[in-house]
Amino acid sequence: MTAVTPGLVCAHTHLYSELARGMPAPPEVATNFQEILEQVWWRLDSALDLEMLRWSAKLGALEALESGTTAIIDHNETPNAIEGSLSVIAEACEEVGVRVITGYGVSDRNGAEGAVRGLAENKRFLDEGGKCLVGIHATFTCTDETLEAAAALADEYGVGVHIHVAEGPGDIDSPERLAGLTNDRWLLSHCVYLPTDHHLKGTILHNPRSNLNNGVGYADPARFSNPVALGTDGIGSNMIESFRLAYAMQRSVDVTAGPDTAWSWLEEGWNLVPEAREDEVIWSYEPMDPWHIAFTPGIRPLEVKVAGEVVFTDGEPTRVDANEIRAKAREQAARLHSRL
Ligand SMILES: [Zn+2]
Repeated sequence: MTAVTPGLVCAHTHLYSELARGMPAPPEVATNFQEILEQVWWRLDSALDLEMLRWSAKLGALEALESGTTAIIDHNETPNAIEGSLSVIAEACEEVGVRVITGYGVSDRNGAEGAVRGLAENKRFLDEGGKCLVGIHATFTCTDETLEAAAALADEYGVGVHIHVAEGPGDIDSPERLAGLTNDRWLLSHCVYLPTDHHLKGTILHNPRSNLNNGVGYADPARFSNPVALGTDGIGSNMIESFRLAYAMQRSVDVTAGPDTAWSWLEEGWNLVPEAREDEVIWSYEPMDPWHIAFTPGIRPLEVKVAGEVVFTDGEPTRVDANEIRAKAREQAARLHSRL
């Protein structure tokens, strides 16, 4: 291997959450995953408007390039700014020069009307030719009717569904509720509490940093027969970091594990976004081999090409002004945090 790789793929993130940095602490200390959702993420996503989302997505896209990631599979939840949200995300990534597949995570958590509007946003974006996987937040926030409608919409357009599955103990009945709905195009994020002998089809998305941060436990993705890909679940799109954490977490339960397994999960991203194989990242370190990367800190991209165009070089993006994006994102973050 040399210092050059294809563009890395982040198989699961939420570009809406980039402005979470610096947010005020929740009114009460969250003591479990359900409380983290209720007191942190659902308060944040409900306060977002489209202008905040635009700069959050631009910041996320910028930081993806800065870490050698050229393709993001995004899962959006902005319950008070649903209509048009997927186009805002696609435009923001296009401006920076990062590939994105997005989808709206439908949910009945704010009532049936919210689920209907979420489905309609996925459909609108698909009708306009947007790169979309139909999003479902999670089975535990959806009725059976919503799950079936989302699966049917995805089938109608020949695309997959992108859903959180058994991330916490409150979602352990998802294998039964999703039985008969999944296919190989589906992306199943987290799966920490998914039994090994489940019958769900699709690629399992492993998010080691997020799982650690939420204290939900280790998914142990090596136990599944499904393909496994790596994501970040909303704190940046640094896939070198995600690989290193995936390796370290696997070692914590299996000291015989080598870094090749976690690296194969990173490579699985190229099956989800094959175009990223055409992208090129020149790294600060050689060789870009899993046995080196797992033990070498501070590896960073020197140059990133997407579809033949240099979009990042000498520490700077070429299409956009990084300082402007950071300044505008900070303004929008202040507006967002004042609503919490
Ligand atoms: Zn997620």
